[in-house]
Amino acid sequence: MAKIEIDLEEENREILRRYRALLRVCYRSKTRADRARIRKAFELSVDAHKDMRRKSGEPYIYHPIAVAKIAAEELGLATMSIVCALLHDTVEDTEITLDDIQRQFGKKERVIIDGLTKISGVADLSSSDQAENFRKMLLTLSDDVRVILIKLADRLHNMRTLDHMRRDKQLKIASETLFMYAPLAHRLGLYNIKTELEDLSLKFTDPAAYDDIITKLQKTQAVRTRFINQFTLPIRRALDEQGLIYEIKSRTKSIFSIYNKIHTKGVPFEEIYDLFAIRIILKTPQEQEKTDCWRVYSAVTDFYVPSTERLRDWISTPKSSGYESLHTTVMSPTGKWVEVQIRSERMDDLAEKGYAAHWKYKDAVESPESKLDKWLGQIRDVLEAPSDNAIEFIDNFKLSLFSEEIYVFTPSGDLKTLPVGSTTLDFAFLIHSQIGYQCIGAKVNHKLEPLSHKLSSGDQVEILTSKKQRPKEDWLNIVITASARQKIKTALKEEKKQISEEGKEMLKRRFNSLKITWGSKNIDEFVRAYGCVTAVDFYFKIAKGRIELKKLKPHTVEADRIRFDKNTQEKHEEITRIVTTAPSTGDTVLIGDDKQKVDFSLSVCCSPIPGDEVFGFITVSEGIKIHRTNCPNAQELMSKYAYRVIKAKWSSNDLVQFEVGLKFSGTDDVGLVQKITNIISTDMNVNMRAISFEARDGIFEGKMVVLVHDTEHLNHLIKNLQDVDGVLTVDRIESEFA
Ligand code: MN
Repeated sequence: MAKIEIDLEEENREILRRYRALLRVCYRSKTRADRARIRKAFELSVDAHKDMRRKSGEPYIYHPIAVAKIAAEELGLATMSIVCALLHDTVEDTEITLDDIQRQFGKKERVIIDGLTKISGVADLSSSDQAENFRKMLLTLSDDVRVILIKLADRLHNMRTLDHMRRDKQLKIASETLFMYAPLAHRLGLYNIKTELEDLSLKFTDPAAYDDIITKLQKTQAVRTRFINQFTLPIRRALDEQGLIYEIKSRTKSIFSIYNKIHTKGVPFEEIYDLFAIRIILKTPQEQEKTDCWRVYSAVTDFYVPSTERLRDWISTPKSSGYESLHTTVMSPTGKWVEVQIRSERMDDLAEKGYAAHWKYKDAVESPESKLDKWLGQIRDVLEAPSDNAIEFIDNFKLSLFSEEIYVFTPSGDLKTLPVGSTTLDFAFLIHSQIGYQCIGAKVNHKLEPLSHKLSSGDQVEILTSKKQRPKEDWLNIVITASARQKIKTALKEEKKQISEEGKEMLKRRFNSLKITWGSKNIDEFVRAYGCVTAVDFYFKIAKGRIELKKLKPHTVEADRIRFDKNTQEKHEEITRIVTTAPSTGDTVLIGDDKQKVDFSLSVCCSPIPGDEVFGFITVSEGIKIHRTNCPNAQELMSKYAYRVIKAKWSSNDLVQFEVGLKFSGTDDVGLVQKITNIISTDMNVNMRAISFEARDGIFEGKMVVLVHDTEHLNHLIKNLQDVDGVLTVDRIESEFA
């Protein structure tokens, strides 16, 4: 093996050459003080990296110099950024500490380099680090956006020199670039950098396709050149006649966008190779530029017919990224559409360098750094603004691909992190417990959505509250975050306690009228007789009107003691009741129990409620569906798909309410409706969803939808309704099709 001699003297000369090339493009670092700072950073970096080499074998210092050059030349950044770019890898890879940086340069430099160190290190796409990394990027962004710009320069240089890396590393870095950095560059208006990042990524993720496109582009170059010359000839003449100073550039679509057309749209290369844009760049004073651009437009359309649908006027209303240009697509004599972009030199500069070029064109009163801060602030505003654009920005990052977390915005643009599957209600509790308790829904991206709406990354969520709202037990099935669940449980417990107190008072009054003493023996007798487990449970049912104290079960009162007849005493029921055994083995679904993580829903064909005999049916796409055993579809399901049927039982859920349809008939009597609704709302504490009547020849028929807790509650309601004078029948609607 030949020993490679390294000519250190030649290398040192090369380092200096590269450094001088950097200085030549530091357009904004003109003062001696600026130059001295850059020199100091360069010397510190050279010294710190002196024993390090890149994978290619080159001295490591080439890399920071190149990154600084991109920052200055392609991003138009000023002294502080160049200093930080030169030092960007020192804290992570060398002995130099953040304290050293602060001592020798300053606090701001420390913050920027700290940010760069934090987001460095290649994240693994398959792990959640990626999400965390992204979050850090967003967070450091609010410290100083220069961190992001230098990071982009760093990434661009790494991509340009990726050849020397191991294949697996190439793939990882290239995919990450495509996934995060290219969209970021795009959003910052750095179109050139975005295109280069995309093309370079493709070079490593699909080298064969990349080479193929490059070869084909080279082969077709001559045809394109001839076409462009012919196409622009009449335009040149017209513009010359008008005395306009201009430059015409043409560019084919980027390799990456050609690749996308071929691979996602299935368009063959031959149909796209001649798709290119002609760009006419005007040298004209800023106050003239709009008029002049339209003069060019008029000249172009004198020769070629424009497509009326494809005129884009981003001069009158620039894009949110600051992009200004006039685009039109015209028909060439050979029958091809050609896009023509018309813009001033200033606009072109902005399009190439993004906001970074603004400093050149803004009034010269302010110092360069303060102008820089201004546009940094602008970028930050764009990124943080709670507008559709911010959502689009996040969209670009395909955050939904992150498997574990979603990122959601508050109306004021604050970023919140939630687990995937979180609902608007989870979000409400994340903001504040009180907001959670009073949540009635939300506006998600300005659209009204219910509590159970599942959020996606990039959503902007405004919670709607009502003072009348209170936590419900079925909320436990809506939230997925542990903290929201805990808060709801606590609130429900508190509420149950309060309601029980009312029931306790009602029972005390009944004790008085029965002339028995208030004591544990008598209370226990009641609790047992009514099949309750605890006194609190019993009080609660009284308060809710589900145990009636007016008409007590058969009993005797003897010497201050109440005794209920033995045969009417209900057995001590378990909290849960197994109500059906389906013809299959397997686990039992505990419906309504929040401890069990089973995804079930109540089928709409028979709308089961607790107390109904039910079974679970495993569906292909909607998890387990709970049907009543007498559901019209039950037989078919059980016979054909017995293996998909599982046992189900209800757990006690005192506060959960279920929809039930009732039909009733009676003699048409004035005030009957009033009586019925009175029973429902006052006596029984039942919520009514809908009611409809039809009266004919003295007979009426009606339907209503009510919310009940279980069959016990429902039967009680039916009995009370039947007791109303004039009511003939009250029946549950067995199926919504009945
Ligand atoms: Mn680096």
